[in-house]
Amino acid sequence: MKYTISTPPQQCFMRQSLWYQSAGKVKIRGVLWHSTGANNPYIKRYVQPDDNASDRMYWLNTLGINSNGNDWNHTKNQKGVHAFIGRLINNEVSTVQVGDWDKRAWGCGSGKYGTCNNGWIQFEICEDALTDDAYCSQVYQEAVELTAYLCKLYNLDPLGTVQYNNVTVPVILCHQDSYKLGLGSNHSDILHWFPKFGKTMQDVRNDVAALIAADIEEEEEMTLAQFKELMKEYRTELQDNNAGEWSKEARTWAINVGLIQGVGSDDSGELQYAWEDNLSREQMCVLLYRFAKMIGRA
Ligand SMILES: [Zn+2]
Repeated sequence: MKYTISTPPQQCFMRQSLWYQSAGKVKIRGVLWHSTGANNPYIKRYVQPDDNASDRMYWLNTLGINSNGNDWNHTKNQKGVHAFIGRLINNEVSTVQVGDWDKRAWGCGSGKYGTCNNGWIQFEICEDALTDDAYCSQVYQEAVELTAYLCKLYNLDPLGTVQYNNVTVPVILCHQDSYKLGLGSNHSDILHWFPKFGKTMQDVRNDVAALIAADIEEEEEMTLAQFKELMKEYRTELQDNNAGEWSKEARTWAINVGLIQGVGSDDSGELQYAWEDNLSREQMCVLLYRFAKMIGRA
């Protein structure tokens, strides 16, 4: 996965926006996709750093400068989503997070049953002219990566649904889906765009689920180095003087005749015999040799 706890999306919080200053916290229920509805694939159209941000120069260099002053951090508009996907100034497609994920979105409006703003993390995908297959597949993949990251982060089932105001709502949906469910305003995004290139919201859910499943498989594979480390830990536990009563007579004899000589002392200075640990072929030869000497055969 592109985004993980240790490699999250970059953050350029827009703390000057009305949304950032006014929206409260909500319980997270899912992820809702938007696209901007305007031909401008550059994130800088919407995202600019705070005027006093300590990393302002970094972000202006990364995003480019919106010299029209109409980004969402410098206009008092009633809109607010958690992230934007589109082009950085170097044309790379990326995600920029602009507010805490558990902030109430001001994204999809409302319908007769309420609003998905109440718990669905929302992001805008910057549209181009909607004719470029390559750009479409790049932002689609980026949005799938972001959604998979958020599903893992908040333990959301990408193929699941939640009950909200007596409506069955998919965990992952788009703005137009929320309208159809009576939980959003009538905007067409993203269904006027991605289906043109063969991608539906069900493809999104399947692709997110597949990405997470592949990631879990990768996590479960143990490296040889990790196995050796655990094996060493396990054997250390066996290298003390714990042993069963049934073997006591034989153990005492083996020590007394010098067959078994211990593996070293513990912190308290007591000699340890590692009774429960493995016997190597090397150690076996030494034992046999000592025994052969005992009976005059070596
Ligand atoms: Zn929308």
